[in-house]
Amino acid sequence: MPRPWILPRSRQRKLALLIGAVAVPALILALNAIWLTLGVAHQIENESARYDTYIAERVIDAFNRELVDQVHGALGQAEAIAKAGGSQDDIQRELALRAREFEAPQFVPVEALEGYSLVTVEGQLLIYGDDASGRRDHPFATMLLYGPDGEPVGAGGWWFNPRAFLAEHLRDIVLERLTSGRGMYGGFELTRHLAVTVLDDVGNEIAHVREPGQLPTARTTAMVGPFEGYQVRVAATATAPAAIADRLVVIEVTFIGLMVVVLLGSTFVGARYILRQIELVNAKTSFVSNVTHELKTPIAVIKLAVETIELGRYRGEAERDKYLRTITRESDRLAQLVDNILDFSRLEAGQRLLHRSPLDVRDVVNSAMDSFKLRLEDAGFQYEVLLPDQLPKVLGDGRALQHCVLNLLDNAVKYSRERKEVKVAVASQNGQVSLSVSDRGIGIPPEERERIFEKFARVETGLVHDVKGAGLGLSLVDMLVRAHHGRVEVDSTPGEGSTFTILLPVWDGGRGTGTV
Ligand code: ADP
Repeated sequence: MPRPWILPRSRQRKLALLIGAVAVPALILALNAIWLTLGVAHQIENESARYDTYIAERVIDAFNRELVDQVHGALGQAEAIAKAGGSQDDIQRELALRAREFEAPQFVPVEALEGYSLVTVEGQLLIYGDDASGRRDHPFATMLLYGPDGEPVGAGGWWFNPRAFLAEHLRDIVLERLTSGRGMYGGFELTRHLAVTVLDDVGNEIAHVREPGQLPTARTTAMVGPFEGYQVRVAATATAPAAIADRLVVIEVTFIGLMVVVLLGSTFVGARYILRQIELVNAKTSFVSNVTHELKTPIAVIKLAVETIELGRYRGEAERDKYLRTITRESDRLAQLVDNILDFSRLEAGQRLLHRSPLDVRDVVNSAMDSFKLRLEDAGFQYEVLLPDQLPKVLGDGRALQHCVLNLLDNAVKYSRERKEVKVAVASQNGQVSLSVSDRGIGIPPEERERIFEKFARVETGLVHDVKGAGLGLSLVDMLVRAHHGRVEVDSTPGEGSTFTILLPVWDGGRGTGTV
């Protein structure tokens, strides 16, 4: 049975060329599109990472501001006492009253300030430090207090727990202190699409606002000042424009890939179809000249034989009989060829009807051999017919099956050279009846074995044969056998010979007769 996806090498080459002509530019365009898309995605990721770093710095600033605001807000009374010239104890007492969330008051006289760290937060000086004696494990945060003469008397403030401070204020800082204006980075990524996490020195989470998405652009920045040792990590959430763009890029690249596959697939199918049509047109052209030749030869032979007999140009009865045999043989050939063409055009037009009835394949072989024997003998063939004693019947059209056998025999004769041997064998096994015709002829190259069953197909490469033919015989055999729910198999070795086997299902005894 022909398998259309197996192509002979010459067609494969043409097909590859055609597909290449479309596929290469399509692939270049697709790769270009993917490269550009990935380039844009990369740019977006870079921007997102840059923005995350920027926001982390803003969060750190905001924590410092919050601390300064709280210290400053709580210092009001202590500042007034210092300004009024109050003593260090008065100031300490006042600080103790306003401790609020701070742990304990701390006052550092001006002469002891040297050596403490300080940062400027929005123009205000925040002085902080650790307990040198090691009794307190948290830092303190203080601001300068001024005496009546306007000179600093010292720094007043409180010891505090940075971890608790960060955990408590993160939400307010992110939601209220961060600018969320659309103007920021052109509204590219608003802060509401950011996940902010505060981490301790070993990277453990202290608190977070929003869940980070999948984008690999998260940035971690170390905190400075009184919060030294802690870190702020900022990442885009799954709803961030950058994360959405990232997902779109994946979808787009997938789409481009699918488009390429569809394009290549349709090009392949289209190119195959066009090639097939071109080949069909070519085949039809050579079909006409081949058929004309095939018709002319027997007609010429018959004409010559008739003329010879008419004019009495023969020596004796035996020679006259030889000419008569020639006429019979050649008219059989003509009839077979005409049958082929008629059957073919009927099948093409969907008209041919098979009159199926239970029949014995041995009868089919016998009557085919009766009409073909002459040709075999005249062409100098040795033939052998192997028929079993018992054979189940098949449901078939005797004339059509005989036609198939004749076509196979005709090919065996046409494609044999020195070794003129033909064997016809019938057997039954596994619910099938097999009918095989073997020759010792030129054989068929493996890559052509599927194609020879296509209409007009002839082997043109390899062991080139000079035999004329229309390329219809095997396609008819295939069509007719398939109409019998059977199949044709071929086994061949180039230079050694071929065996064509028709396999038909055994008649199951059911309602069989009728036309299909
Ligand atoms: P035709 O014989 O008219 O060319 P067919 O359809 O009968 O057409 O056969 C198709 C092709 O298959 C032939 O042209 C020939 O190349 C190859 N072929 C068929 N039968 C044989 C055979 N017995 N030995 C070698 N080649 C064969």
